[in-house]
Amino acid sequence: MNRFVPLSALALVIATPVSAQDDRFDNVEIRAEQLVPGIAVLFGRGGNIGVSHGEDGTVLIDDQFAPLTERIQAAIAALGADPVRFLFNTHWHGDHTGGNENFGEAGALILAHENVRIRMANGSEGDRPVPPAAPVALPVVTYHDGVKLHLNGDTVHAIHMHNAHTDGDSVIWWEVANIVHMGDLFFHQMSLPFIDRASGGSAQGLLAAVERVLAMIDDETRIIPGHGPMATRADLVAYRAMLLTINEQVQAAIDAGSSLEEIQAMNIAAPYEVEGGFISAERYIGFVHDSLTDPDAMAHEHADHGPDHDDGDDHH
Ligand SMILES: [Zn+2]
Ligand SMILES: [Zn+2]
Repeated sequence: MNRFVPLSALALVIATPVSAQDDRFDNVEIRAEQLVPGIAVLFGRGGNIGVSHGEDGTVLIDDQFAPLTERIQAAIAALGADPVRFLFNTHWHGDHTGGNENFGEAGALILAHENVRIRMANGSEGDRPVPPAAPVALPVVTYHDGVKLHLNGDTVHAIHMHNAHTDGDSVIWWEVANIVHMGDLFFHQMSLPFIDRASGGSAQGLLAAVERVLAMIDDETRIIPGHGPMATRADLVAYRAMLLTINEQVQAAIDAGSSLEEIQAMNIAAPYEVEGGFISAERYIGFVHDSLTDPDAMAHEHADHGPDHDDGDDHH
């Protein structure tokens, strides 16, 4: 599996005029970093974007927020890539699907796990409701376990991971280039994980997903996290150790009869807290406790109940 092409880091910054609608995005620049010829990562605001391009067409992994679409398209063009032909969503959160309507209208074929389409079509209620998505923003091709695209000299695998960050997560793996996009199964150096319990996520599923990815990749693999800088297998090994340690310690405390409040006071996750991260140690322990005490935590294969999504459009 040592088909790693030496990196010549090509960073380019695209600055474009501001879009008037939403000034949160006025100063966002889309920065492109080439990973290997034909594959790049785009950093902006929202989930990291993967781009694969070549003679068979351009594939995009996630699309951040709608006000950024023109800047993302400019960054893609600056790579020498054609307009987007295929668009994968790693999951349904708005910081990964916010550009779907624009890219759908521009002719991209959108693919995702079937629960992404269900949750986007339904929207969600709760503290910060998400309206149902426009039909053109919805995935057209959906899958249960996964799908493969055979193009640009590579096989691009979308692999569904059960009940992890949400119930519709996919990992995208370029088999030949040996690059994996993990969506929000992996926040790298920016926060403790977010487990969206209202969208079917679970601590058990998150750990299982990371273990499945580790079994698939090697030391040369380049990992695009959902948020944060590029990572290596060693980074993911450390992340897996954190997930396992916290799950085991919370489970031991549950078994010993401790309440959630008592477990939160044990500072189990505090050593892993990231300064400025949006998930606190206390909140993360809440996700883990809620998952480990839910007998159906890994049973939400279909998003057939009304989701209660309480997270903001910016996260995650
Ligand atoms: Zn997310
Ligand atoms: Zn995200």
